[in-house]
Formats: sequence, structure tokens, C-alpha cells
Amino acid sequence: MRIDILTLFPELFDGPFGYSIVKRTVDKGLIQIQLHNIRDYSTNKHKAVDDYPFGGGAGMVMQIEPIFNCITKLKEERTYDEVIYLSPDGELFDQPMANNLSGAKNLILLCGHYKGVDERVRQYLITKEISIGSYVLTGGELAAAVVVDAVARLIPGAIGDEQSALSDSFQDGLISPPVYTRPANFNGWEVPAILLSGHQAKIDAWRHGQSILRTQLKRPDLLGDDGDVN
Ligand code: SAM
Repeated sequence: MRIDILTLFPELFDGPFGYSIVKRTVDKGLIQIQLHNIRDYSTNKHKAVDDYPFGGGAGMVMQIEPIFNCITKLKEERTYDEVIYLSPDGELFDQPMANNLSGAKNLILLCGHYKGVDERVRQYLITKEISIGSYVLTGGELAAAVVVDAVARLIPGAIGDEQSALSDSFQDGLISPPVYTRPANFNGWEVPAILLSGHQAKIDAWRHGQSILRTQLKRPDLLGDDGDVN
């Protein structure tokens, strides 16, 4: 899988992509992440990428030309499954969307800044818009990093124990059961005895029950109207 990220601040990705599972997935060659500085695609002699909004008002708007130049060049080189704009008013990012995107071959992620991008970018160049929540970030970089992280860990081979990603919250429409590790007794706070029983079928049944209880308590919206597992 290849992900091309268009940004005005490539350095912002050093941290999110420099460690842990995303880095290992890149190092293993399972995912290729290419950062493109939109400024490099400006034909303006000052390498400007933003301008004042037509009609007046506060803030600057990212211009269409450098974004168009970058996307056009990339599309000449390969076909993209989606050209995604990270935007607070996009479709809310969730696990099914991450699952879906993890099956893509090539993706473009466009990170906005300032007041956002010229609307014609969204009209003519973008195929999908994603929001990571109903709040406004300074730029799309953190949102893009969230999307890449959630997608990368789903790529077969990214996580050592394949079951691990599949047993995470939301994958079966339920919240994960609680997890414990050594010591079994810490200051008198004990691990549920069933987990030490060695009886796998009973442990699995207990975990499933805990998942349902937690979902009813923390995320009843994931359950059907009758409170049952969907
Ligand atoms: N003027 C825009 C508005 O009111 O919708 C907000 C622009 S925001 C300051 C700058 C950029 O950050 C956006 O273009 C977008 O790329 C990104 N961004 C901000 N919040 C986001 C969110 N919740 N999800 C995804 N991207 C976001």
C-alpha cells in the first residue's frame, strides 16, 4: 500500500511515523508513505501557497494551483483509490472506514491549514473527505497521522499477533474486554480468578460477556435499539 501525503509541514510527521507499528510497517515494506511539501509545487516566485479570501474576512486560504500540480503529477504516475481531504466537516472517521481504507492500493491525503483549501479543490480534485472529530485542529497533519496509524496496523503482517488487531474494540461492534498482566495480586487488588483458571472456553465466554457489559455501559450507541449486539 502507498500513501501520498500533501502538506505544508512535512516535519510534523516525524514523530507519528518515526516509532512503533507505523515505522515497523514502513521498514517491512508493507506500506510506503511519501510526504510532499505543497510549497514545492508552487510556481509563484516567492513559493506562496496561500492568499486572502475573495470577499474579505479573516484568515488565509490555501490556493488551488500548487495542490492541483501535485495531485496531477501523482495521478500521472499511478491510479489512486481515493483522494482524501482531511476536514472537520468530513465523514466521521471510524473503524469500518479504517478497515475499508486498509484494502486500498494507493491513497492521497491532503492536509489543509489556515482557513482551509480553496473550495474548488474539494469540488474537482477530492473524492472523499474525512473528519477525525467535531472540533477544529490547526492543520490536517494530526488527522492524517491518525488515519495512517489506524490503517497501517490493519495491514496483514503489521502486527505480530494477527489476532491482536482483530480483537480490538469496534472490530466486532463491541468494546474490548478488560486486560490484566502480572502480578496477579497488587496491593490486594486481584485479577479476576477466571483468567487464572487455565480454562480457555470459560475465559473466552467471560471476555465476551465483559465486552457486552462494557459496550452497554460505555457505548450503548453501538448496540441495537433493544440493547442487543448488532
Ligand atoms: N475553516 C475551517 C472550518 O471552519 O471548517 C477550519 C480550518 S482548520 C483551522 C485547518 C485545517 O485543519 C483544515 O483545512 C483541515 O485540513 C484540518 N482539520 C481541522 N480540524 C480537523 C478535523 N476535525 N478533522 C480533520 N481535519 C481537520
